[in-house]
Amino acid sequence: MTTIIQNATIVTGDPGRTVLHGSAIAVDGDRIVAIGPTGEVSAAHPVAERVDGAGKAVFPGLINCHTHLLATADRGILEDFGFPTTLRFPVAARALLTEEERQVMATLGALEAIRSGTTCLLEIQAGVAGHAETLAKTGLRLVLAHNFNDVDEAKMREGAFQFLPDRLDQGLQRSADLIGAWHGKENGRVSCFMAPHAPENCSPDLLRRARAMAEHYDIGYTIHLSQSHLEVEAVMRTRGVKPTQYLFANDFLGPRLVVAHGRYLDPSEVALLGQTGTAISNNAAIAARRGAAAPARELLAAGCAMGMGTDNMAEDMVEVMRTGLFLERVRRNDEMWPTPEDVLEWATLGGAKALGMADAVGTLEAGKKADLFMVDTQRPHLVPTLRIASAFVHQGQPADITDVMADGRWLMRDSKVLTIDEDEVVRQAERIGHEAWRRVLDRYPDVPFPIKLPPQP
Ligand SMILES: [Zn+2]
Repeated sequence: MTTIIQNATIVTGDPGRTVLHGSAIAVDGDRIVAIGPTGEVSAAHPVAERVDGAGKAVFPGLINCHTHLLATADRGILEDFGFPTTLRFPVAARALLTEEERQVMATLGALEAIRSGTTCLLEIQAGVAGHAETLAKTGLRLVLAHNFNDVDEAKMREGAFQFLPDRLDQGLQRSADLIGAWHGKENGRVSCFMAPHAPENCSPDLLRRARAMAEHYDIGYTIHLSQSHLEVEAVMRTRGVKPTQYLFANDFLGPRLVVAHGRYLDPSEVALLGQTGTAISNNAAIAARRGAAAPARELLAAGCAMGMGTDNMAEDMVEVMRTGLFLERVRRNDEMWPTPEDVLEWATLGGAKALGMADAVGTLEAGKKADLFMVDTQRPHLVPTLRIASAFVHQGQPADITDVMADGRWLMRDSKVLTIDEDEVVRQAERIGHEAWRRVLDRYPDVPFPIKLPPQP
């Protein structure tokens, strides 16, 4: 059955940044089959379910190129102590979740993602296979990556870097198992990436073998890069070069790679990323919380594809877009660039390019997959709707988003999420989050903790 969203404003996000008024978008199965004036699209599809888009704007679904959904358990705590955290606990709460609790916290993250207009996300997590099925049921387009490294972590905490071949083999095997179980599943809605963790804790052998595996399976791969001063110092000390140069020297950079963060890159590193066609996930909101910013303008000028991501503790891509605009204008003392249309493109088509999906998603065009969200524009902070992409990036809120579709299926309709029992997940996640942090405090009673936790709800 064809679905037609009609009489809407359609922000296509196409390369010409076309915005259509009084227009319709027809979806059949998982694909957009037509976009144009409501009368024409309607006449061409006499039998269809019709959704009234009057007073609404339709946008391409947002693409989150870097997240860790289980970090929702650390919300309210780990935003404010730097990275790596200055809290002295050897673990974060998310590391002490049971398998069942992991399902709930991952679903909580997915819920927030859907409510903020996300239709696709790259979830990077050690043992992601454990919550893959739960996530697949949310209806989101997913790129799943098993996060691993091959360093001796106990010794690394003392400043020594030793690498363990068994640990490397195990990480590659778990990645291969994940790919075998999930890549291309659910009508192609679920795919996989390789995810070595970061330059300081991955050996040259790991980098080379992970890239070779990505090429073997014809998939992408990702890594944290220039995420912390500690990383830069550790790589300089152990490898004698900057982190990006270390990756380059081991044939790791290239068009299949999405590097996340890029907060402390020097110009030579930006040039290497550009010349190798490497893509970046600009995680602006978490960067701002860390007092840092990726050099967006320089990375784009060097030729990098730019996506955006949330990283830890939040899944709100609306906030990420706005922070990305603010952060870059402040960083360069530039009151006009980037434009709202620029950051919207980073969070849609840019992300699709980074993830190697630009043929299928990232814009609203006939023939592409139907991944979209609808905004109620008749809100006090959005009218007059003279330039709706600008109004939404500057003033929009997730609560303005009423409907979300991924792969042609409604995930949210009239502000109700259809694929998740929202009340139950929120209730359980509240309990689990409190219990998990109590576990941390019980296990390490001698570690100073500057926060007084409230009573257990
Ligand atoms: Zn991360």
